[in-house]
Amino acid sequence: MAAFLPPVLSDTIVALSTPPGAGAIALVRLSGPNAIALTDDVFSGKRLRDQPGNTLHYGTIRDGERILDEVVVSLFRAPHSYTREDVVEISCHGSDYIVQQILGLLTRRGARLAEAGEFTKRAFLHGAFDLAQAEAVADLIAANSALSHQVALQQMRGGFSQELRALRARLVQFAALLELELDFGEEDVEFADRTGLVALLQEVQVLVRRLLRSFELGNVIKNGVTTVIAGKPNAGKSTLLNALLNEERAIVSAVAGTTRDLIEDEVSIEGIRFRFVDTAGLRETTDVVESIGVERTRKRVQQAALLLYLTDITLNTPAEVKAELEALNPDQQIPTLLVGNKLDLASEAQIEAFRRLPDTVLIAAASGAGMEELQEALLARVRGEGLDQTGATTIVTNLRHARSLEATAAALDAVLIGLNTGTGTELLAADLRQALAALGEITGEISSDDLLTSIFTQFCIGK
Ligand code: GDP
Repeated sequence: MAAFLPPVLSDTIVALSTPPGAGAIALVRLSGPNAIALTDDVFSGKRLRDQPGNTLHYGTIRDGERILDEVVVSLFRAPHSYTREDVVEISCHGSDYIVQQILGLLTRRGARLAEAGEFTKRAFLHGAFDLAQAEAVADLIAANSALSHQVALQQMRGGFSQELRALRARLVQFAALLELELDFGEEDVEFADRTGLVALLQEVQVLVRRLLRSFELGNVIKNGVTTVIAGKPNAGKSTLLNALLNEERAIVSAVAGTTRDLIEDEVSIEGIRFRFVDTAGLRETTDVVESIGVERTRKRVQQAALLLYLTDITLNTPAEVKAELEALNPDQQIPTLLVGNKLDLASEAQIEAFRRLPDTVLIAAASGAGMEELQEALLARVRGEGLDQTGATTIVTNLRHARSLEATAAALDAVLIGLNTGTGTELLAADLRQALAALGEITGEISSDDLLTSIFTQFCIGK
């Protein structure tokens, strides 16, 4: 990958950094060499050019003689700012009209409207943080559960980056020794102890794989778990969904403005979001004997991360349920949780028959009996491969990082195979270099212009 040269950041960018629309306050942010002078030219109050950084100033913004608004200006001087450049934040009244006027005024005087993520990109280019940390800023803004917030915050504060840097540093030492051997060419010397290298590579490989496995959980934390609730009509699907939502309501009721519509299908259990897929749509046609119903439901199931199959244990035998599941989800391609409902109506024999099945929880959705067990079973399904087994404190949530880790693992495998088969130093060194490059991509030690553009355009404007 080509080396990336930071552009000369001679221009000053400006953007609205708060959401558009009416509000108490809107914040217009400028960054760049002329941020302070540009603002000073339209500001009446103290002379901003003469003020030190980290100070607040009350005054008015004027377009010629016309006062646009009364504002408070926060002044930051390079390098003590988010972008490491001179930064001005104008807190004005939250009106689209005022904001447009101020933006118009500043752009006419030479500021440029910022692109999405450009403030954070500048911070990255000035070395305020690495790429993984910059990406975590976007994740933090998008975080909507306690866990996703925690993971993003940890990544933004550099936890993940540190772990990667430690891995990389150990590989670099060996790579350097291999390169040295190459320099000596024909003399056939071995500076790098091969046994030590194998041990190190295996150790690093374990860590890389652990991080990779954490991605499964990381993805779930970030995007939620798509769960299909299926089952015959009257099995109790809506009753179950309501029971799950009621538990949730106790947690979310403090959030003002949360409408029922928005959370209807989403339940957060211990910080992990479960998105229950259009169960209403399934309800009409879930008679699994009817082929169209099976077809429709099967399609839904294939898009899900988890299938929760609900059955009325007073009406169905385990053998029937197994057949239904086989029709819906052949070979258990999608992880499945079988939930037997109407425990309160069932006979001892019926209960016993279902208790013997693996991966089964028995509940009475109407009374809420067994709901805790069900929640635990849902969490266990999700965590199975993830947190518990990895014991990871670092969780990979980003697909790009996961891809780079895969490339790292593949390159490390190649080195290990090479060492076992006595491959020449040249090939070993090349594979090791590839592993280092893949690891370096994550934190941006190695990055291309295209990569940066694709990452930062995912940000919102003004960040
Ligand atoms: P769906 O068609 O699968 O959505 O099933 P519903 O949730 O509409 O439930 C069908 C019927 O079963 C309703 O009359 C529910 O009150 C009843 N029901 C659901 N769960 C239970 C339960 O645990 N015990 C009993 N006794 N009745 C239940």
